Amino acid sequence: EEDINKVKPEYVKSFEFVRKLLPSTWIVVRIDGRHFHGFSEEHEFEKPNDGQALNLMNSCAVAVMEEFKDIVFSYGVSDEFSFVLKRDSQFHDRHASGIVSVIVSFFSSMYVMKWKGFFPEKELKNPPSFDGRAVCYPTKEILRDYLAWRQVDCHINNQYNTCFWMLIKSGKSKSEAQDYLKGTRAQEKSELLVQQFGIDYQTLPDMFRQGSSVFWDKEDPTERYSDGPDGKSRKKVVVEHCNIIEQSFWEAHPNILD
Ligand code: ATP
Ligand code: ATP
Ligand code: MG
Ligand code: MG
Ligand code: MG
Repeated sequence: EEDINKVKPEYVKSFEFVRKLLPSTWIVVRIDGRHFHGFSEEHEFEKPNDGQALNLMNSCAVAVMEEFKDIVFSYGVSDEFSFVLKRDSQFHDRHASGIVSVIVSFFSSMYVMKWKGFFPEKELKNPPSFDGRAVCYPTKEILRDYLAWRQVDCHINNQYNTCFWMLIKSGKSKSEAQDYLKGTRAQEKSELLVQQFGIDYQTLPDMFRQGSSVFWDKEDPTERYSDGPDGKSRKKVVVEHCNIIEQSFWEAHPNILD
C-alpha cells in the first residue's frame, strides 16, 4: 500500500519527450524495407524488378490508405512507400512517433498477411520489417518537389539496374558490370540497352519506370453501382503508374491535395 503511493504518475510521465509535427504542413511518412537487398535474394525476387513483389507493396499501401483516412496520396518504388497526410490532419495529435509507428506496423502486418496471396508457391522465410520517418513539407510546391525527387530516383535506379542485370545475365560478374557502368550517363545507358540487348527503355512496364501512385479516385461513373447510398458517387483507392512530376497529373486530380 505504501509502495503504491510512492509512484507519482505525473513525475514518471514528465520524462516522455513529445515531438509534435508543425501544424498546417503536409506530413510525409516514408517507410523503407529493412535489409531488402538480402530479403529479395532470399525469396528469389526476379531481378531487376519482381512485379509480384511490387504488387504486394502496392496492395499493402491500398490497405493502409483504407485504414488511415487522413492519407491522401502515396507513392511507392522498390521497397519504399511515401504516405502523404492531409495538411490539417490531427491524426495522433500530430505526434511523430504515434503516426510513424502505427503506419509502419500496420504496413508490416499487411505484408505478412498478404504474402501468400501474391506468392502462393513461396514460403515467407523471415519476418519483413520496415523503418519509417516523418517529414513536414510547408507548401504544395515543396511537397510536389519531394514526390518528384522520389520519382526521379525511381527512374535513375531502374535504368541503372536494368543495365546492370542485363550485363549479369549476359555473363559478366557483378564487379565487371559495375565497372562497365561506372560514370556512364543516362543517354549512354539508354544506347547500351538498345545496341547490346535490343531493349527500348520506354517499352518497359510503366510500374517499373514510373513507380506506383495510390490515391482516392471516383469510381467510373458509367458503372451502374457507382452511386453510394447517399447519391454521391463512391470513391475507391486506385493504383496508377504515371508521371507525377508533370503538372498534368495534378491538374487532372485537383482534389488530392486540396
Ligand atoms: P536498408 O535496410 O538500408 O533499407 P536495403 O537492403 O533494404 O537496406 P535499399 O536501398 O532499401 O536497401 O534497396 C532495396 C533493395 O531491395 C533493392 O536494391 C533491391 O535489391 C531489392 N528489391 C526491393 N524490391 C524489389 C523488387 N520488387 N524486385 C527486385 N528487387 C527488389
Ligand atoms: P489505442 O488505439 O488508443 O491504443 P486501445 O483500444 O488499444 O486504443 P489501450 O488504452 O491501449 O486502448 O488499451 C488496450 C485495450 O486492449 C485494453 O483496454 C483491453 O481492453 C485490451 N487488451 C489488451 N491486452 C489485453 C489482454 N491481454 N487481454 C484482454 N484484453 C486486452
Ligand atoms: Mg533504409
Ligand atoms: Mg530498404
Ligand atoms: Mg529502399
